[in-house]
Amino acid sequence: MKACSRCGQSKPLADYHRQAASKDGRKPACRACTRAAYMSRRFGHIDRALDRYHENRESLREYAKSRRERPGARAERNRKARERRRTDPSFGFMLSVNNSVRRALKHAGKRCGGKNLNSMPFTIEELIEHASKWPSGWRLGHIIPQHELKFDSFDHPNFLECWALDNLCPVYD
Ligand SMILES: [Zn+2]
Repeated sequence: MKACSRCGQSKPLADYHRQAASKDGRKPACRACTRAAYMSRRFGHIDRALDRYHENRESLREYAKSRRERPGARAERNRKARERRRTDPSFGFMLSVNNSVRRALKHAGKRCGGKNLNSMPFTIEELIEHASKWPSGWRLGHIIPQHELKFDSFDHPNFLECWALDNLCPVYD
């Protein structure tokens, strides 16, 4: 047994990383403390940023709200979205996919934190390729509909089945 130089707890030697240069062949701080120190060095800035965010959450929310509601903000957003739709063919796909997934998750009583596309079983390029055969004017639909493949997370097997390229089809209103 040996006392850790950081937390002071007495622990078996196996709980210390090896260090050839030291007298007992082990590091002075235990594995748990070594890991904690590493994580804090590596990710401490994220923790601190999150702390700051939580401390200032109310005022940050107020600020975001005032930006959203300032005169002309909506028109500006719409203009940017139109421009992006025109110049970036994948943008419309992203909106369409994001909206469908958000609706389905909302229906399951879950919120989703953006970045839906990273969870998709296809890339936007694959989707564009897949949809290039469809006559224009479509919106994205599912052959087996979403309400028959209920999912409450991106890991759910139904989610992958629902959003497999084979299950996507064009819908014309
Ligand atoms: Zn320790």
